[in-house]
Amino acid sequence: MQIAEIHIYQVDLPVRNGPYTMANAEVWALDSTLVKLVADTGLVGWGETCPVGPTYAEAHAGGARAALTAIADGMLGCELLPLAVHRCMDSLLTGHNYAKAAIDIACHDLLGKALGRSVSDLLGGAVTDRVPSYFATGVGAPDDIARLVADKIAEGYPRLQIKVGGRPVELDIETIRKVWEVVRGRNVRLAVDGNRGWTTRDALRVSRECPDIPFVLEQPCNTMSDLEKIRPQVRHAIFMDENSVDLNTVVTAVGTGLVDGFGMKLTRIGGLQKMSTFRDICQAYKLPHTCDDSWGGDIIAAACTHMGATVSPELLEGVWLAAPYIGGHYDPVNGIRIEDGHIAKPNGPGLGVLPDETRFGTPVASFG
Ligand SMILES: [Mg+2]
Repeated sequence: MQIAEIHIYQVDLPVRNGPYTMANAEVWALDSTLVKLVADTGLVGWGETCPVGPTYAEAHAGGARAALTAIADGMLGCELLPLAVHRCMDSLLTGHNYAKAAIDIACHDLLGKALGRSVSDLLGGAVTDRVPSYFATGVGAPDDIARLVADKIAEGYPRLQIKVGGRPVELDIETIRKVWEVVRGRNVRLAVDGNRGWTTRDALRVSRECPDIPFVLEQPCNTMSDLEKIRPQVRHAIFMDENSVDLNTVVTAVGTGLVDGFGMKLTRIGGLQKMSTFRDICQAYKLPHTCDDSWGGDIIAAACTHMGATVSPELLEGVWLAAPYIGGHYDPVNGIRIEDGHIAKPNGPGLGVLPDETRFGTPVASFG
């Protein structure tokens, strides 16, 4: 079974009750890119990649479409098997994992449909039908964030992530303390995510001033050398997110004991094939991690959920989805939803979602 056609679509996803605020980005609407692969058998598979604005990471929506357009012609005729697809993509373009991830996801969807198996089956097999999600708050006023956290605990989220950075660190410390008053004594885990926004000075101060609060420090500072600098001095576990840009970096961070876990994004690492290798590295070292995407609709949400369902439950920190911030679904029936802080693994072959493609308009580019 080979790739016969590739179609690229652009979809706008307005942020519900926007903006969504992080240390380095404020987003009102996201620009998602969808890939439809058509096999020589006529079967169709869908993929998606949606950078969360142009300043969150070295990725942007126009870059995803430019990279996909650059490789699409050369991908025609490629065998629809995940490693073969990656070999073909790498022979045409170096890097650009976040763009290649859309083709990787579409390949898994299509292969699953051809075999009558779900994507989680292709990834080795699910250990659960219902994966935990977590809620990320955005940067906000201490009392507002504490109230939001109380609401989300009541909704059933087993983990909460507070965004910090991009403002005086005293406000971040006050927010963490107010949130802890709400979280203390509940069976809820807490992560404090700097999204690269703190200086090492700020990170050290927060850790020293909150020694009694058992949060994970997620990507507090900008670079890996910043993390190396604070690592021996902080009292809190460190998770790496934005710096874990590829498997090579992950192996280095794991092998040198730089981190205690990861926030990992499916598109940043290059799709499901790379993510399953990452999952196995973390399993070997007993390191917890998330299975997120930066943003996107039902396609990326389904891919993250299938991936998360194959992770050992004691190591899965949760699957973050943009779904609560997006109105509507690509698939009105099987669209991915968070209920009681958890996500049901989609049923059916492939990703288990069938996008209504009339929603996407005309492709911005077609090949084959
Ligand atoms: Mg993060």
